[in-house]
Amino acid sequence: DTVGTLLDRIAAAHPDRPALVVRSQGIRLDYRRFHAEVERVAAGLLSSGLQRGDRIGIWAPNRYEWVVLQFAAPKIGAILVNINPAYRLHELEYALNKVRCRALVLPRRFKTSHYLDMLLELAPELAVAEAGALQSERLPSLREVVLLDEHAAPGTRTWQDLATCADEHAMAQMRAVEGELSFDDPVNIQFTSGTTGAPKGATLTHHNIVNNGFFIGEAMRLTEHDRLCIPVPFYHCFGMVLGNLACVTHGACMVIPGEGFDVLATLETVQAERCTGLHGVPTMFIAELEHPEFHRFDLSSLRTGIMAGSPCPIEVMRRVVSEMHMGEVTIAYGMTETSPVSFQSTVHDPLERRVDSVGRIHPHVEVKLVDERGRIVPCGTPGELCTRGYSVMLGYWEDEARTREAIDDARWMHTGDLAVIDDDGYCTIVGRLKDMIIRGGENVYPREIEEFLYTHPKVQDVQVFGVPDEKFGEQVCAWIRLREGCESSEAEIQSYCRHHLAYFKVPHYVRFVDTFPMTVTGKVQKYLMREAMAEALG
Ligand code: ATP
Ligand code: MG
Repeated sequence: DTVGTLLDRIAAAHPDRPALVVRSQGIRLDYRRFHAEVERVAAGLLSSGLQRGDRIGIWAPNRYEWVVLQFAAPKIGAILVNINPAYRLHELEYALNKVRCRALVLPRRFKTSHYLDMLLELAPELAVAEAGALQSERLPSLREVVLLDEHAAPGTRTWQDLATCADEHAMAQMRAVEGELSFDDPVNIQFTSGTTGAPKGATLTHHNIVNNGFFIGEAMRLTEHDRLCIPVPFYHCFGMVLGNLACVTHGACMVIPGEGFDVLATLETVQAERCTGLHGVPTMFIAELEHPEFHRFDLSSLRTGIMAGSPCPIEVMRRVVSEMHMGEVTIAYGMTETSPVSFQSTVHDPLERRVDSVGRIHPHVEVKLVDERGRIVPCGTPGELCTRGYSVMLGYWEDEARTREAIDDARWMHTGDLAVIDDDGYCTIVGRLKDMIIRGGENVYPREIEEFLYTHPKVQDVQVFGVPDEKFGEQVCAWIRLREGCESSEAEIQSYCRHHLAYFKVPHYVRFVDTFPMTVTGKVQKYLMREAMAEALG
């Protein structure tokens, strides 16, 4: 299947099942209407001059139009470019020019961010351009701007224009183009989270993401009777593949609470829509569980969901199962470059396995762990995780050098993550190669210290990382968020650790903070914490 033929097939099989609910926009569509809407927009894209291979950027939070475009662009062989809605001028310019987007879809505004004004700052020529004929100095490839608003602005088309400009001829043309596509064509460019540095644009094919969505849905046992609440961002693979595609491959319903993550909106949505699944990164589940009104909501419809993106504290997982009724919750491990998931636990795995590992390898994916010289390590020893199979991206968009660093000649993807795999094939992510602390020649895995510090009654959240040190190479540092109303000291934390951990793992520096630097996906950016500490310590 391509993304387009997948939707054709599912819509034909379950035309009357609900496909999409967007609470914030009051939208409810069954598969018949969702499919029709997607085809109209696809034909509209063709009519407005976009062609196979063109890149279409979408710079918007979670909205109805995002989902439609995710399925419409692939129908004409266009490549959807996910642009983080938190990006500002500098990053937007970088992303649009990096992959030479021909079109950009954006809302006029979202909360206090005025997207159209920001674009006008980059491309003032838009104000005097004909729709579809922009010529901009700083955004030389951009021709078409589609505004998600009832009213057009100078130089732009509205979404409504796009969805209504297609005639019968355009529909026929769209079907003809679709017939020529191959599932090995690029369909999507996703930027990585930027947890370890500047985001990279991973080019993915239909084959990559359709299959990954399918196997994810299989592991969650999705059917056309499921309703999955998706509060994670679409611009990231978590929303668009683990959420939207996992649903569509199984005829399940995508339920979108709103544009950005909001704890109450999410809990309300699960209750009102009787959702059977809920996705989130650990910090989202923590925010839901810790919310003062958490117990007001009836979440008994929940069964499953995925917790992914970063390591999940064991305590949080237990509460998700017991207090959120998500007995079938699964952990997934993946990265943008592998479409994304390569390991996932399933309902058949005992709960302990689902909390202490990321599960087992997905079907049709190979795995190996290697040391720094590329040799396979013995079972139970940490090594760099490498994966190979259908899910590995084509490469970083027009970046041969970085692609070759990541994917070797035998097509192995070097993930940059350290992992251990046991005799039964369960994989545990030990941390990032870049985050491993080497203190006086001892390898220290931050995760182990974090897990331990979570057991301290005053600790709400903790991050451990290495800071440069003249004598030891690196020293262990912990940033801690204390529970409300609690006070603690460096000495108290250190003495707690000393009783239970080897001396070289005891944090040399302890700092109490209110927040951690995070990507908008809720991933903690340790490299920024490391920089801040290095600066503070001189
Ligand atoms: P960048 O590559 O730009 O630095 P990133 O690696 O965070 O950012 P993503 O592709 O969004 O960008 O995330 C993939 C990474 O997330 C993995 O390489 C891994 O480090 C981490 N990760 C994903 N799932 C899990 C998990 N279940 N447990 C632990 N870590 C995970
Ligand atoms: Mg990465």
